[in-house]
Amino acid sequence: MPNVTILGATGSIGVNTLDVISQHQDRYKVFALTANSNVEVLAKQCIEWNPKYAVMADEASADQLEQRLRAQGVGTEVLAGLAGHEYVARHAETDYVMAAIVGAAGLLPTLAAARAGKRVLLANKEALVMSGRLFMDAIRDHHAELLPIDSEHNAIFQCMPADISKGLEKSGVKRILITASGGPFRTTPLHELSNMNPSQACAHPNWDMGRKISVDSATMMNKGLEVIEACWLFNTTPENIQVVLHPQSIIHSMVEYADGSVLAQLSNPDMRTPIAYALAWPERIEAGVEQLDLFEIARLDFERPDYQRFPCLKLAQEAMQSGGTATAILNAANEIAVQGFLDGHIRFTDIARIVETTLEQVSHHEASNLEIILTDDGAAREFSIHQIRELAA
Ligand code: NAD
Ligand code: MG
Repeated sequence: MPNVTILGATGSIGVNTLDVISQHQDRYKVFALTANSNVEVLAKQCIEWNPKYAVMADEASADQLEQRLRAQGVGTEVLAGLAGHEYVARHAETDYVMAAIVGAAGLLPTLAAARAGKRVLLANKEALVMSGRLFMDAIRDHHAELLPIDSEHNAIFQCMPADISKGLEKSGVKRILITASGGPFRTTPLHELSNMNPSQACAHPNWDMGRKISVDSATMMNKGLEVIEACWLFNTTPENIQVVLHPQSIIHSMVEYADGSVLAQLSNPDMRTPIAYALAWPERIEAGVEQLDLFEIARLDFERPDYQRFPCLKLAQEAMQSGGTATAILNAANEIAVQGFLDGHIRFTDIARIVETTLEQVSHHEASNLEIILTDDGAAREFSIHQIRELAA
């Protein structure tokens, strides 16, 4: 029975993963659970699942968790920090690692899982956006398995030929069509965008997700990150990926073939479908997801993306074309800007401006090793924080 480690267990993906596992306790065992600082939720999860390890990002939270668990008579061993995260990600007894930490914080633990040859269930798209080639090489060199959790990439994976190692073109694949809901501001008058507040930005019409990815969906940086993610996962370039606005979020993406066929994966917007798919692959298991009712849905709409409304999408496509650490710089600037927006320091429309200026001002390099990636990530963060200070002054 595979032992599962969930990095970011208390988040939206983490909780959905435990939900799927709870339906298949005869198939999967929870080995380790990790979280940033939410002692309350991680304690409850440990009491319910009794994992061998629990990890918190900082020592103080780990101490609190330890006290809670001892008081309840739970024997879970509590660890802290990046070292604790990496330890459970590469532990010999771990078989599957759900990488569901949000942002750059997930990079090193996810890389540790790849380097230890685990089945990596990748939700943490920022890790791949930052480290691209390095991450894919780690997967290949250490015979790890990489299964995409992001609904679009999971859909693309399902629609691709089983073996694409000879390249997409030779496999008869012409294009990838990645769908996007357009988020909560798809039809908001352009002049009102600068007044949108965090709760409006986080009110996604179709998906219930963490706050960072919700804001990314509102700016469509999420789709930009996903184009980059798809380039690495499926070994292609942004020119071969068409973004298609599809407000109903029923088709999760498509693959177009040389013979004119377009294969699509449809389901209700519920992350338990891709999670169950990746856990059980190549088998299929129950996910607890409501059956798709096409008569209820009745129609599916498609539109071209509008770069004036969604400049972040273009910035991401351009960063991928620039290559090297440009995508790490894009990601870092975006993380800082989104946090600045969520904290009320900048306007919604400042997010794209900060990312754009950072990409112009912080020079990128060949992403030949982790050190260079982390150095450029740090420089981009510093530059973005400086811009937020200036805007807030
Ligand atoms: P979330 O904010 O709900 O949860 C994030 C998790 O990461 C939490 O468990 C948190 O404790 C942990 N975390 C945050 N900072 C950390 C740190 N410094 N160290 C250790 N742990 C830390 O986010 P989410 O919506 O579950 O998204 C997680 C990832 O999955 C993101 O990369 C997101 O882009 C991706 N994703 C999410 C969805 C979705 O439906 N929620 C869909 C596709 C992809
Ligand atoms: Mg997605």
